[in-house]
Amino acid sequence: MTIKAFVIGHPIAHSRSPLIHSTWIAEHGIEGSYEAIDVAPAELPGFFERLRAGEFAGGNVTIPHKEAVFALCDSVDPLARTIGAVNTLVAHDGKVHGTNTDYLGFLGNLDAGAPDWSAGKKPAVVLGAGGAARAILVALKSRGIPVILLNRTRATADRLARDIGGDISTGALTDFNTAVPTAGLVVNTTSIGMHGSRFDGFDLDLLPPDALVTDIVYAPLVTPLLADARTRGLRIVDGLGMLLHQAVPGFEAWFGVRPQVTKDLRARIEATLEH
Ligand code: NAP
Repeated sequence: MTIKAFVIGHPIAHSRSPLIHSTWIAEHGIEGSYEAIDVAPAELPGFFERLRAGEFAGGNVTIPHKEAVFALCDSVDPLARTIGAVNTLVAHDGKVHGTNTDYLGFLGNLDAGAPDWSAGKKPAVVLGAGGAARAILVALKSRGIPVILLNRTRATADRLARDIGGDISTGALTDFNTAVPTAGLVVNTTSIGMHGSRFDGFDLDLLPPDALVTDIVYAPLVTPLLADARTRGLRIVDGLGMLLHQAVPGFEAWFGVRPQVTKDLRARIEATLEH
């Protein structure tokens, strides 16, 4: 029997997930499929009935449904609850379980790209306090890394820091130059960097020379922040790996095989991105 999985969103045409999962399906010779399905918000309950009826093994959830599916799931794991978003659904015995794999994607990407990144437990400067930042703060907390959280809207950063708890101080984006001299890591989780947009007034020369800079924006693959960091000789990790690594646990749950994030897979997805 063909095992079916999906990504739902609205719109959904630009998702790279079908290419990622179909590459793994072919690689492992699995009788399965992974399709992008446009589901409007009003259609979500009906779609969950199809899931409960056993039509799919599960799938991914993307914008704008990551919060709305919470109420529809029969169970949600505690980390997804802390993050406040579900991006992966697993259907089993007429029930749907929701989880969030973005934090694993973030960790998997840094572990692969800069294996010693968390060894010194130096502070991470996290830029942005939106949905992706929530998952990244949970990830950094799981490694015992203190965080300096900077956001355009300071009040949003304060609220997020309270929600996640632990060693998180907050500030505005304009505090960057005073925050970075002791940092081991800088993470951009804002949408700045998309289509080549850049931060104003950041002095990357103030970072320690062994600091790592990562950006979760992956279009373009080398954002202006990463390009500036590389010019200064700092280590960089781009955001495409997070997208690839977050897909691993879902594929394993639906198709029963743990796939690898290989250079070939990366190259296939990279070929679809703007440069
Ligand atoms: P979100 O919830 O809408 O949060 C957006 C964040 O960006 C907020 O902190 C917002 O600050 C800030 N921001 C937006 N425009 C800004 C500007 N002009 N100047 C300064 N700050 C600005 O979005 P999200 O879901 O967290 O996603 C953020 C980015 O991460 C997107 O580009 C998304 O594609 C990418 N992403 C990548 C992956 C991956 O796998 N690599 C995964 C998830 C997301 P305010 O609070 O002040 O509005």
